[in-house]
Amino acid sequence: MASKRDYYELLGVERSATAEELKKAYRKLAMKYHPDRNQGDKQAEDMFKDVSEAYEVLSDPQKRRKYDQYGHDGLKSQFGPGGFDFGRDFTHGADLQDILGSIFGGGGGLFDGLFGGGGGRRSSARAGGPQQGADLRFDIEIDFEEAAYGSERDITLPISVQCETCHGSGDKPGTRKESCRHCGGHGFVISGNGFFQVRQGCPVCGGAGMMSQNPCKDCDGSGRVKKQKRITLKIPKGVDTGSRLRMTGKGEGGIKGGPAGDLYVVLHVKNHPLFERREEDLFCQLPVPVEVLMLGGSVEVPTIDGLARLKIDAGTETGKAYRLRGKGMPRVDGYGRGDLHVHIVPEIPKKLNSKQKKLMTEFQSVVEEKQYPLTKRVHEEAEKMYARKGKVS
Ligand SMILES: [Zn+2]
Ligand SMILES: [Zn+2]
Repeated sequence: MASKRDYYELLGVERSATAEELKKAYRKLAMKYHPDRNQGDKQAEDMFKDVSEAYEVLSDPQKRRKYDQYGHDGLKSQFGPGGFDFGRDFTHGADLQDILGSIFGGGGGLFDGLFGGGGGRRSSARAGGPQQGADLRFDIEIDFEEAAYGSERDITLPISVQCETCHGSGDKPGTRKESCRHCGGHGFVISGNGFFQVRQGCPVCGGAGMMSQNPCKDCDGSGRVKKQKRITLKIPKGVDTGSRLRMTGKGEGGIKGGPAGDLYVVLHVKNHPLFERREEDLFCQLPVPVEVLMLGGSVEVPTIDGLARLKIDAGTETGKAYRLRGKGMPRVDGYGRGDLHVHIVPEIPKKLNSKQKKLMTEFQSVVEEKQYPLTKRVHEEAEKMYARKGKVS
């Protein structure tokens, strides 16, 4: 295989190109190489594919960052076919809506055929031949720790498989489907009168025209039964809400030798009391005793690897941020880790005893006004304001 060309070079832009410049360059090249304008020109077609790929990557800030850091290798998933697929489309609006819909839509269970147009496949108009099982989507919540360390967990899903009794036909063994009596085998019925005639799918046979006069008792004529299937999920380190694990052939069972559909497990990572996550970076609010902030010292910081030491300078202010490089979440592609951002919050000691109160009173009596520049400034600004008030009225 020929080595891949550099994406920036393909688009003819600088490595520092803005989103707007990228878009412009891509639009120009896409018009030039568009297959409609270059019928039968294989080279133009290849160029069109290449520039489209380059634009797809560079127009996505996250992918662009990976590409800038690691080149083409940075975009490869470490998992091969049949393994995990991290939903490269997940940044797009429709998918996002999909995710949100499933979070807020109640139930959070199985949505048949979301990915594979399962609705039509079930129609018995094509009954008789092999049918592929529908793709299934299942949403699960996982703990923050599972996303940080990776995990393996068993889930049990109610998945439809072919009914063993009727082998998927839906008919009682030894019987066959017959023409639907309601629609005379047409699959539709005409209702209304005069000009307003409406053609509707037959409500009895569901539009198939044929139906079981003797439905199979085990599956109520559907040809499928729900079975609780146990599936072992391997959750790799670094997954985030919206990450999608694809499990080939673990979806709904096929009928009459048709292949099974795929199972997509969409992950939702629960919040953690200590860490907030933004992409691979973690943010943590760290309370530090007020005297340590005044005198300086060292404190322990929780990281996902264990406690780390952080040196605090004397006179550290509220909100001071420290960045611990490489102490964030692992990247799901296996390349490195994000950072941990620690924000300092002073903690005031509770319930002072008499000795502590005495010491603090003593401190209060010797501390000077100029040591509190912010307080001083508030007073000065207030004075200025009141001085003007006197002049106006
Ligand atoms: Zn059956
Ligand atoms: Zn009918």
